[in-house]
Amino acid sequence: TILANQIAAGEVVERPASVVKELVENAIDANSTEINITIENSGLKLIKIVDDGDGIDPTEVKTAFLRHATSKISEQRDLFRVRSLGFRGEALPSISSVAKVRMQTSTGNEGVEVDYQGGKLVSEKPAEARKGTTIEVSSLFYNTPARLKYMSSPNTELARISDMVNRLAVSHPEVAFSLTSNGKELLRTSGRDNLLQVLGAIYGMKTVSKMVKISASDLDIQVNGYVSLPELTRASRNYISLILNGRYIKNFGLTKAVISGYGSKLMIGRYPISVIEVNVDPALIDVNVHPTKQEVRISNETAISRLVYQAISTALADKRL
Ligand code: ADP
Ligand code: MG
Repeated sequence: TILANQIAAGEVVERPASVVKELVENAIDANSTEINITIENSGLKLIKIVDDGDGIDPTEVKTAFLRHATSKISEQRDLFRVRSLGFRGEALPSISSVAKVRMQTSTGNEGVEVDYQGGKLVSEKPAEARKGTTIEVSSLFYNTPARLKYMSSPNTELARISDMVNRLAVSHPEVAFSLTSNGKELLRTSGRDNLLQVLGAIYGMKTVSKMVKISASDLDIQVNGYVSLPELTRASRNYISLILNGRYIKNFGLTKAVISGYGSKLMIGRYPISVIEVNVDPALIDVNVHPTKQEVRISNETAISRLVYQAISTALADKRL
């Protein structure tokens, strides 16, 4: 099964940024209000995540490292109304099969600390009863040299991590995030549920002063967010962020709807900076399409697109530009 986990790791943990994503999603799913991320050497030496969430009971911690042992879905019909970010039960077994992992966790009563190396439990002992979880992933890909060789430059891998944390922070303004790399703080958000504040922490206040609030809704769909004025654009669509029920997603149709919201106000090849939050009944979306869960199937995509278009065109028309 270590082999099976390493194979799954090929899909779930392609690079350090994917490890950060999976672990932070776990911390969010555990109702954390504060998540602190420390990185050394672009995550290849160390990825450390400290959360103040629910923790794992000492009797269940080893189960959490087993394949497909998710605590988040118990019945088949839950799969069609996923509210949590994780549900496949693949991240911990995959990550621990290609790294050294230490987890300290407590639900507030007793605490436990476990060590895994290359997928094997090497130690288990009682630990401090601080409510929450600390997970340290070190020597990532130490036993999969081919994967290690496939890494980009340290700066590129770090940029990918930073990008990922920015997305997670934007998707969860109610959580206080910090990201520190080799001793340098790269991001800090307040956790006061203020999206504009999070955008300020990422892009700077000058950029944020050129963004406008959007919102639209019908009976089943709520659209909220911020979009840049047409004078503030970028040469890449990557600055269009889509968040569906708290999950950062990629979606061609919705991205197109954002752009159409600008009508003829955008120059060719220029794209807005925007964060579009969409909330719908989880029964209307299927997130079980791809292991990284970034692709989703949405049954009412056309209706959502229409609202996104409407929200943006109305907000920009009010600006009389
Ligand atoms: P999934 O998130 O798909 O359920 P994972 O392999 O990521 O699978 O995690 C396995 C289980 O470990 C989770 O279902 C959860 O019960 C537990 N877990 C992992 N990380 C944390 C955390 N930071 N806080 C609390 N529980 C956690
Ligand atoms: Mg998970």
